[in-house]
Amino acid sequence: MKCFACGDGELESRSTSIEGEIKGKKYGVEMPALVCNACGHIALEGKDGQEFMRRVADEYRRAHHLLTSGEIKNIRGSLTQQAFADQLGVGVASVKRWELGLVQDKRNDKILREFGDRHKRKKFAPQYTFAVSAYAGGPGYALASSWSSCSHDPPTKRRQVHACLI
Ligand SMILES: [Zn+2]
Repeated sequence: MKCFACGDGELESRSTSIEGEIKGKKYGVEMPALVCNACGHIALEGKDGQEFMRRVADEYRRAHHLLTSGEIKNIRGSLTQQAFADQLGVGVASVKRWELGLVQDKRNDKILREFGDRHKRKKFAPQYTFAVSAYAGGPGYALASSWSSCSHDPPTKRRQVHACLI
C-alpha cells in the first residue's frame, strides 16, 4: 500500500513502538501498525486505534496504581456490563469506557477493588466447607458451628462445622 503521507514509500505491516499521551504523561506502547519504509509515517488500522488508547491508558494506570482495563474485566467476571454497573451503582457507559481505556478516578477505583474483594471471598469460601481442621485458626479464617453464625452470603444450607473467610 502506498504511503498517504509522503506518497513515495510503501506501508509495511509490522510491530512498532508508538508514543501516546494521556493526562499530560507520555507512554510508549508496542502495536501492530503500518509503517512507511520511506518517511517513517505510522498508521493504525481501524480498531487498533481503540486498542492503542487502551494500552496507553493501562500504562498510565500501572504507573498510578490504578486497576488496568484487564483487571476491571476480571473483576466483572461473567457478569454483563449492565449487571456489573448496577451492582457498583454506576452507569453502564462508565463500565464500557473503563474497559475501553478511559481512566477511572480514584473513587471508582476503590469501588471496583472493594467489589473485587467481596466477590473473590464469595467464590472462595465454599471451597472450604470441608477439610476444616486443616484450616482451623489459619490466617483469615474463623470456624462457625452453624450457618447462623457464618458470614457466607448466601449462608450455606448445611448445618455443619465449616470454615469461612472473615
Ligand atoms: Zn511515507
